[in-house]
Amino acid sequence: MMNWLDSHCHINDTAFREDLDAVLEHMAENDVTKAMIISSYIEDYEFAKTISHEKIAFKRSLGIYPGDADAVDETLFERFASLFEEETCCAIGEIGLDYHWTSDNKEKQKEIFSRQVRLAQELHKPVIIHSRDAIEDTYEILKSCPVKGVMHCYSDDADWAKKFLELGFYISIAGPVTWKKAKKELEVIHAVPVDRLLIETDCPYLAPSPMRGRRNEPSFVVYTGKKIAEELGIGEESFKRQLNENYHSLFTL
Ligand SMILES: [Zn+2]
Repeated sequence: MMNWLDSHCHINDTAFREDLDAVLEHMAENDVTKAMIISSYIEDYEFAKTISHEKIAFKRSLGIYPGDADAVDETLFERFASLFEEETCCAIGEIGLDYHWTSDNKEKQKEIFSRQVRLAQELHKPVIIHSRDAIEDTYEILKSCPVKGVMHCYSDDADWAKKFLELGFYISIAGPVTWKKAKKELEVIHAVPVDRLLIETDCPYLAPSPMRGRRNEPSFVVYTGKKIAEELGIGEESFKRQLNENYHSLFTL
């Protein structure tokens, strides 16, 4: 039997500090035996390095979150940049643009984002992209600086997904595809070739049905995976095999 995987989780978040061992056990019990731990802060990244379980293979990424762009000065940027070079840092992310809460700092967000994409290009590392209400600008920046990567927790439409596929990107689907009102999310999974799909929890947020409303955790990725396999009419085993292939061809470190 193939394993499941979570291509984007935040188990280094304080939401898991009390019962992390149990959360890791749930992963092992549900065959979620690969996961990418995302860090937006240096302390979280250092903590992520200490997370381990004998049955689970973890990878780690680090990146300056777009919502933090205003707080970043040159000293902090350089600290991130030097950590990007570490072998433990398998990917640069999540990075991107988020105009949902504020678009007053678009220029600063774009600058921090582009500089990190350029570093990824120099270091030959993939990027993990967060884009919210900012898809056009996100696309322009990625188009101008070719890198490998994934559109995480993809929430835009199928037409935009195709444009990112043309840039060589993977599209990662999170819990909302399982929710009752999912429509755009279902169109997206049908528009993306299965060899370019990934799945994720983005936990502790966005728990899939039937866990919606609860704290999300990596073992819940199974609900999302099963839903997509069923929707696409492919067997779970072959879907899992494909997900593993995609994960490793994107995240080679
Ligand atoms: Zn995230």
